[in-house]
Amino acid sequence: MSSRIIAEIDYEKDGKQVGWLGLPHSVTRSAYGKIMMPIAVIKNGEGPTVYFQAGNHGDEYEGQIALVKLIRELDPARIQGRVIVLPAANFPAAMAGTRVSPIDEGNLNRAFPGDPDGTVTEQIAYYIDSVLFPMADLFHDLHSGGSSLRYVPFASMHEIPGSPLNEKCIAALEAFAFDIALIWRPAKPDARFAPVAAMKRGVPALGGEFGGGGTVDPKSLAKVERGLRRTLVHMGLMERPKDWAAAPKPRRVAVPGQDWYVYAPAPGLFEPAVELGATIRSGDLCGHVHFVDDPARPAVPCHFKKDGLVICQRHYGRVERGDCVAHLAIDA
Ligand code: ZN
Repeated sequence: MSSRIIAEIDYEKDGKQVGWLGLPHSVTRSAYGKIMMPIAVIKNGEGPTVYFQAGNHGDEYEGQIALVKLIRELDPARIQGRVIVLPAANFPAAMAGTRVSPIDEGNLNRAFPGDPDGTVTEQIAYYIDSVLFPMADLFHDLHSGGSSLRYVPFASMHEIPGSPLNEKCIAALEAFAFDIALIWRPAKPDARFAPVAAMKRGVPALGGEFGGGGTVDPKSLAKVERGLRRTLVHMGLMERPKDWAAAPKPRRVAVPGQDWYVYAPAPGLFEPAVELGATIRSGDLCGHVHFVDDPARPAVPCHFKKDGLVICQRHYGRVERGDCVAHLAIDA
């Protein structure tokens, strides 16, 4: 089954093309209309293909800005090979500044491998999975914490037990040279995630959480921009610059599983007890939930279950039971 999305660019043509992917979407105001999603292909002759993506979640901005700048600035004459850039992958969500699509509530990063006849979000996932991943020699999906989370910024990879791609991912992660390189080690890798789906297609894949809280971190953004160019060097599309070795060797950390996460124990207002970036011990206080609707009720505490670095915290003060309020990473 082929995708209904029509590319108004030619993936095989040399030069820089900035065009559209048209996803048929029939609604009251436009019976035969399409959702026009921006895409760029920057190509010069034969060589490897690097696929950069942002806006998988619409409210995560560092990657979207970095890729728009890359599209404007990258001169095809300076590369050998092909760079495909999808700067707003879940385009309806990116335009709304929301994590999920306002059209179908679809979370693109839980939608792979997608469905050619599914919802708008499922159709986008299917196009990426069936058309873009097979062209790529490396995939990098740029995220941030979005509206509800703040992160100590890092580049990342998903480790799939036994996969021969893990080594290639680590090499690309080191080359990206972000301060922190994080390895997601879930008990069961979730193939609905874009990087895991890409690895199922045999494509080494990176990710990263480069900020959060619905803001733009300019320092992190600058490091992402440097990392994108270093990725092109690492993959052989560009010459190695003289200052290549000047970039820092990343601190390597991992998230081993759910025990390193803390969840709100009750609905209310969450008061964090630690700062983002703090090093804590198992049993340390994570925070309290307060009850402004019942002020005499004692606050309910929650605690960390493991040692580690507080790499993520909830951004919003209001919580429901089951909201993630923090998670840890450990040195790896
Ligand atoms: Zn995200």
